Amino acid sequence: MALIEFEHVFKHYPGSPSAAVDDLNLHIQAGEFLTLLGPSGSGKTTTLMLLAGFEAPSAGAIRLDGASIESLPPHQRNMGVVFQSYSLFPHMTVAENVAFPLSVRKVAPSIIAEKVNAALTKVHLENLTHRKPNQLSGGQQQRVALARALVFEPRLVLMDEPLSALDKKLREEMQLEIRRLHRELGVTMVFVTHDQSEAMTLSDRVAVFNQGRIEQLASPKDLYDSPANPFVANFLGDNNMLECTLDEGLPTGASAGTGRVRTASGQTVLSRICTTKALEKNDEVKLCVRPEFLQVASSSAALATPNCLRATLLDLIHQGDHWRLVAQLEGVAQGSKEAPQWFAKISPGALPAGLMVGQNLCLGFRPEDAWVF
Ligand code: ADP
Ligand code: MG
Repeated sequence: MALIEFEHVFKHYPGSPSAAVDDLNLHIQAGEFLTLLGPSGSGKTTTLMLLAGFEAPSAGAIRLDGASIESLPPHQRNMGVVFQSYSLFPHMTVAENVAFPLSVRKVAPSIIAEKVNAALTKVHLENLTHRKPNQLSGGQQQRVALARALVFEPRLVLMDEPLSALDKKLREEMQLEIRRLHRELGVTMVFVTHDQSEAMTLSDRVAVFNQGRIEQLASPKDLYDSPANPFVANFLGDNNMLECTLDEGLPTGASAGTGRVRTASGQTVLSRICTTKALEKNDEVKLCVRPEFLQVASSSAALATPNCLRATLLDLIHQGDHWRLVAQLEGVAQGSKEAPQWFAKISPGALPAGLMVGQNLCLGFRPEDAWVF
């Protein structure tokens, strides 16, 4: 049995035309690190607040160990919560902040001292116990918030964008700290972020949110290697996309395979087909290729694949460990909504010599490195 079950959960805020959480079905396994990833407004915080008990669902059931928790107030749910803003009590010391959840639970003072010490040691703050929050850096304040969420040994730790106020270097350092804590404590963690790299660093599984619904729930690797749709392909990792029409569909009854698509300028390429819809010839489809899978050559004969899209080189940018090459695809209709520019990530050794901005080139890719949705 899953530790947490959301069954057909809806949340409508009064006066809002659409549901913030729209028929959510989600099982959270004991001990896992689950991340809710999605753009701003996609319902991540609302989902976390429903779980913590700060919001009530409009419909549906939320269960902990198989028992409904809707009637339980937040402090009886045994969940530690860390918010984006540090939300520490400014007049209390570090130790007093961390002791707070235990004092509320009427734990004996001698035990409180011991547990506070242990929690602060876990987050490497044992030497700052007497400081006030305004005497700490942003990273240290989030460590205190984390210690306060862990100190009463909750079943779940819920975190809502806890690192988003920190600069990049500190954020990456804290991500490794949170990974370590999860590994050492084995506590179930549910983490909210809009940052795909943070989600990939931390998570056993990621739920990709869009408009109050989960688009896909899978491990970071599976999301990256096998996105279920263009939204996931675009949200996790970089992606080039092109509106095409299907030249040849799959045989009737087949659910996966390779198909040929035609671009607006009449070029055809082969690609994996990755949709659950039954496609027919001349259906509109989206061709997706990640920039690192593109090969570049001045002529199609120089490519290691028969798949080639003709393009014009717009820009070539040195990014240290790779070149970023920006190209305008041939003949994509002017004024079309789809960006007619694709970009490729080319390792220094694979860049053809003497490329000039403005020249024609071929973008190649293997059929198995592309998706058609
Ligand atoms: P996220 O955390 O992914 O950015 P939220 O869960 O905060 O998304 O918001 C989901 C949707 O619900 C948004 O459209 C947001 O404007 C709306 N919303 C969130 N909180 C409230 C509220 N208290 N009252 C009305 N609408 C809200
Ligand atoms: Mg939010």
